[in-house]
Amino acid sequence: MKKIAIIGAGQCGLHLAFGLLDRGHRVTLFSDRTAEQLLNSRIQSAAFLFNQTLEWERHLGLNFWEEDAPVGEGMLMDFRDPHGKSMLTVAGQLLDKRGNAVDQRSKFARWMQEFGKRGGALMIRTLTVDDLEEIAAGHDLVFVASGKGPVNALFERDAARSRHETPPRHLAALLLRGSRLMGDRPWPKADFRPLRFNFVAGVGEFFSMPFYTHTAGECRSFLFEARPGGPMDRFGDAADGATLLEVARQVVQEFAPEDACHFDDARLTDPNAWSRGAFTPTIRKPVGRLPSGRVVMGVGDAVCLNDPIAVQGANNASRMAEHLLRCMDESESWDAAWMAHSFDSFWDVSASYTTAFTSLLLEPPGEAAMTVLGAASQHRAVADDFMRCFEAPRGYWPWIEDVEAARQFVAQRVQHAA
Ligand SMILES: Cc1cc2nc3c(=O)[nH]c(=O)nc-3n(C[C@H](O)[C@H](O)[C@H](O)COP(=O)(O)OP(=O)(O)OC[C@H]3O[C@@H](n4cnc5c(N)ncnc54)[C@H](O)[C@@H]3O)c2cc1C
Repeated sequence: MKKIAIIGAGQCGLHLAFGLLDRGHRVTLFSDRTAEQLLNSRIQSAAFLFNQTLEWERHLGLNFWEEDAPVGEGMLMDFRDPHGKSMLTVAGQLLDKRGNAVDQRSKFARWMQEFGKRGGALMIRTLTVDDLEEIAAGHDLVFVASGKGPVNALFERDAARSRHETPPRHLAALLLRGSRLMGDRPWPKADFRPLRFNFVAGVGEFFSMPFYTHTAGECRSFLFEARPGGPMDRFGDAADGATLLEVARQVVQEFAPEDACHFDDARLTDPNAWSRGAFTPTIRKPVGRLPSGRVVMGVGDAVCLNDPIAVQGANNASRMAEHLLRCMDESESWDAAWMAHSFDSFWDVSASYTTAFTSLLLEPPGEAAMTVLGAASQHRAVADDFMRCFEAPRGYWPWIEDVEAARQFVAQRVQHAA
């Protein structure tokens, strides 16, 4: 049995924490908020998880919302010109890869309580880099899973793997209830309950997902991704949720007019169900070296932070936790070399594809992607395959960037489906 500390009780920290408890280790989890504070805080994310991540949560015995959370069955995408005219519609089902989105406030609060029940030690404390020295001295291994928190400055930016110097989008998120937002078939164009994406060329994107929150039950999340300085970049002055909702209404009316009816009687699920902000996606080196020479390992968003456009951050954080648990099982020594190697192997098999896919979605689709999307608008089998790759973006390669491979992929799928 080893003594392991984890800083940050989010998606990555909690998944690691439960996996380590299952392996019989003594785990101390540091959170900057109590469960109660978390339940009453502003939303910071609106994370949809695909089946692979949900399977891992089932394996850890953390799937408390199976009955309540509405399932996202597929994706309905419109690619629009700068004025909002739809140029291409693609609807595809996730099938075996469908998932759900549970408010992280609800989820992490419940898991923090569960962690104590299963024998973990939960400490409420906001740790600084200086505090890490004391923690590292008393533990065999320290994971820093602090998300976008300032402690991640301990980890050096990896210039070769980081593609952005500034935030690519200005973000605004909302949780809404409304009679045209919920239920089985809220979007008539889709014969399933969709994640709804709008890509507006040169302007930005907005998407909406079936969602569950402890404050209101079933609802829908909305995330607006405005290109900085562009015509959708209007959320910056909103000082409260009601103002944000009003701007959201105007944006949808202007850039996806047929979706505007979904906002008719839309209202926030609770006064804290909104957020806005911006961050620079950054990949960092996973080994944090303290003045004493001791090392701690960065995990999740702390070292692998991508824009939320591709629905990947929490899925990636969970995949990383699962990968690291396997790496721990295979090694006796969890030193700096092990940390670097474990992260690199995760980067090679998973995170590099997640990061590349996210970057692709932030730019207009290239010829290869358009070849597949064009076919997907005509053939459900191609559309289903395209959407199903969201669960593990490695599946997009090579055809997402290689025109010849894209043509072959389409031909095979169409022939196979015929
Ligand atoms: C608007 C938005 C929408 C998103 N939608 C999706 C989506 O649909 N699907 C998806 O997969 N991902 C999505 N994401 C990304 C996802 O939320 C994150 O990638 C994921 O939560 C990262 O997990 P993590 O454990 O690394 O960090 P977090 O989940 O952010 O957890 C970090 C925790 O550490 C705590 N902490 C920070 N500093 C300290 C400290 N010094 N001491 C103690 N505790 C500390 C924080 O309070 C927090 O609780 C979205 C993000 C945003 C912003």
